[in-house]
Amino acid sequence: MGLLERSDAYWKFTGQCTQCGHCTKACDSLIAADMTLGDIAQALLAAERESETVDQLRMNIAANGQLVQAVRGCFFCTSCKNTCFAHNDVCDLIYNARVDFQKLGLIPREAWSSVLVDEEWDIFTAYRAIHGIGYSDLTRHVATEEAPAQTGFDVAFFPGCSLAAYGPELTREIFATVEELGGKATMIDHCCGSSLKSAGFFDRAETLCDNNSREIEQSGAKQLVCVCPGCANDMKKALERTGVDVEVVSLAAFLNEHGFTPKRELPDTPLCISKSCQDRDGTYLEQTCELLGVDEQTPTIFHGCCGAGGAVSAFDPDRQAAQADSKLSFAEDGSTVVTMCPTCTYTYAFRMMSAPRNLQNKHYTELLFESQFDWSTVFYQLNSMWYGEYGAWLAQVFA
Ligand code: SF4
Ligand code: SF4
Repeated sequence: MGLLERSDAYWKFTGQCTQCGHCTKACDSLIAADMTLGDIAQALLAAERESETVDQLRMNIAANGQLVQAVRGCFFCTSCKNTCFAHNDVCDLIYNARVDFQKLGLIPREAWSSVLVDEEWDIFTAYRAIHGIGYSDLTRHVATEEAPAQTGFDVAFFPGCSLAAYGPELTREIFATVEELGGKATMIDHCCGSSLKSAGFFDRAETLCDNNSREIEQSGAKQLVCVCPGCANDMKKALERTGVDVEVVSLAAFLNEHGFTPKRELPDTPLCISKSCQDRDGTYLEQTCELLGVDEQTPTIFHGCCGAGGAVSAFDPDRQAAQADSKLSFAEDGSTVVTMCPTCTYTYAFRMMSAPRNLQNKHYTELLFESQFDWSTVFYQLNSMWYGEYGAWLAQVFA
């Protein structure tokens, strides 16, 4: 093996790229770097050729600010791929580059120490523990002090990290509905590992999803209901990889299929649907629009990343803020922005806290269920836990 672990991926990409430049025009980060995707692959290979040791390689890559910008400034939104006549796989390229960056120590620890979601403590589990948020009564396939593990479930519910941590009442309300409509239910309240992939721990992310798959298999559930399109995509791949015969459905599709009756009226404001960039082919968008009774052909749908993808905030917070602003700018004054992924909801709420505007920001489940996110409390609690009695412990755990 050469100095770069993933050089095969760069050779492959280089062979498939004609350097037409269309991808560059689709992306502010590539424009700033003045690179095409093919340039990224070539620059990595050139750095390897010019290096005799790992230390030299690390220095050569670090000295190439354009390359670092292009690799670490990527949201994995695939907007560039949509302009590429060859459909070159940007995610494959950048995920591999992040793996090499991680191995070379080119991603600082503070960028990922709090999102190692396959370890005991990450920002979500710490938040839940400190603020008393737990679902041991609903993760019924796991033995607890109060009850032995059960099997024979019909359905498993996968809320994802953001919803499970920041919307406990909403999570419980959705879970109750999933059980009411789908039969005996349990909860998989683990992460899909997207933050690991962004940090260059691709294999660990896949292992995490594979472990989730085995847990679902043991529960006996035949259907996995995911809230976030990204979780659904990753769990589909993991279930296939591990040969576990469980159907993955979005919550929206599940609710559509079971004739769910919303528990509240839609708001009077215009709705602007923020399509998740993880919803590559628009399937989840279609299901969400059907559930809300919204015409998906209207111009009230906007595409692209909310700014949370690819852990860009840990590299360039201004780029994340600008991306959130860019997407929110499509929503007309006074409207309600409706997100499909709870992390998008979080990201917009975070941005609107420092740059308020006349918009409502709701995850689509908030338009259907009684419980709501309370972002003011969430951000207060997220901030205060670093200063309260757990501050020293958190600083030590995430050092
Ligand atoms: S659009 Fe595709 S073929 Fe053109 S430069 Fe980008 S990756 Fe290469
Ligand atoms: S996936 Fe998105 S952020 Fe990444 S290079 Fe392509 S357009 Fe830019």
